[in-house]
Amino acid sequence: MWLAPQQGMRLDSGGSGIIRFLCRQAGWENARVRRTIPFFNYPALFASSEDTYLDTIRRVLAAGKYILQEDLERFERNLAAWLGVGHVIGVGSGTDALLLALRAAGVKPGDEVIMPSHTFVATGSAVHYAGAVPVLVDVRDDHLIDPAAVRRAVTPRTRAVVPVQLNGRTGEMDTLQEIAVENGLVIIEDAAQALGSQYDGRKAGTFGVAAGFSFYPAKLLGCFGDGGAVATDNDTVAERVRRLRDHGRAQDYGVREWSYNSRLDNLQAAILDQKLAILDDALSRRRAIAALYHERLSRLPGLLLPPPPGTGGRHFDVFQNYEIEAERRDELRNFLAENGVGTIIQWGGRAIHQFPALGFEVDLPVTDRIMAASLLLPMNTALTDEDVLYICDLFDTFYGD
Ligand SMILES: *Cc1c(COP(=O)(O)O)cnc(C)c1O
Repeated sequence: MWLAPQQGMRLDSGGSGIIRFLCRQAGWENARVRRTIPFFNYPALFASSEDTYLDTIRRVLAAGKYILQEDLERFERNLAAWLGVGHVIGVGSGTDALLLALRAAGVKPGDEVIMPSHTFVATGSAVHYAGAVPVLVDVRDDHLIDPAAVRRAVTPRTRAVVPVQLNGRTGEMDTLQEIAVENGLVIIEDAAQALGSQYDGRKAGTFGVAAGFSFYPAKLLGCFGDGGAVATDNDTVAERVRRLRDHGRAQDYGVREWSYNSRLDNLQAAILDQKLAILDDALSRRRAIAALYHERLSRLPGLLLPPPPGTGGRHFDVFQNYEIEAERRDELRNFLAENGVGTIIQWGGRAIHQFPALGFEVDLPVTDRIMAASLLLPMNTALTDEDVLYICDLFDTFYGD
């Protein structure tokens, strides 16, 4: 499909030389060539390092080493060093990482755990399956948990707070740490979207007693399936998570408590270790894409953008997602789709308190406002600058340059 040439549209945002040549021949000086930009291009990311992935897969399969083997241990050591924590324990998913971290940190049935509603349901289900009660609070304009709301939600039954470091940004952790100390709470970070993000020079996942990371394929560090990890500096918590991921068994195979099976596959760990080696480059690329979006989109009315990289002072953001709030969001989304650009409304457009089946009755105005207007634009290392400029051109057209 070709867009009709229009005033103000630029040719330089896409297409091969030959197409540009033909456009010029046809007098379509201002034609924009249609692109197809999926929200997340899984096949392209595989293709970008296909040979190395296949070498890794062949090596691990040929060695017959599948469960709790050296590749897993090596990845756990390398990720712990990269984060600057004592221990990383690979588990079956980000959800399990949170559940096992909560249990290992001593969260017990009947405890209350304060967390934002503005998160994937997994944060809440981890709290629920630890036997605790999720207490949902509001977020601030940067989509992260509001420390003042945490303070107001504390009761004698509160045991923990789970800040969600959303979209690649880490919250105001010094204030949360003060609140935790004052009230005798533990902090367990949901860092599923924040690997490599920093606050005050410290990485997400190093602020509390433990943190959960996810290696879901579209996450900052993704594998070819499900995977996750717990990070902790606490030796006792680490030892307990190692038991909890393996049926509650200790090194001597003695079962110390009830648990179940949630181990990170050795094969996935080998692939993750390969990708960890280039993670810093991937995060820089995401920040560059965010800067490009910001430069172009900040000129337009009707949009709220995330803070651009490099201006955050205490924040170092890694842009797991580029989440905007947009006027006429649904219309915009359709317009982008008609022009080949895939977008996503995070969590199907609902925060946890907005699912009636879960039975919450709370008033969270900022979360409600965000969910009604938010949209995730393509943000991944398969995007070219030209892709981003094409998307920004579409915004110019939609909001009337
Ligand atoms: C992805 C995600 C999770 C869960 O991770 P899985 O690996 O999919 O289980 C938890 N919390 C947040 C904020 C996430 O984005």
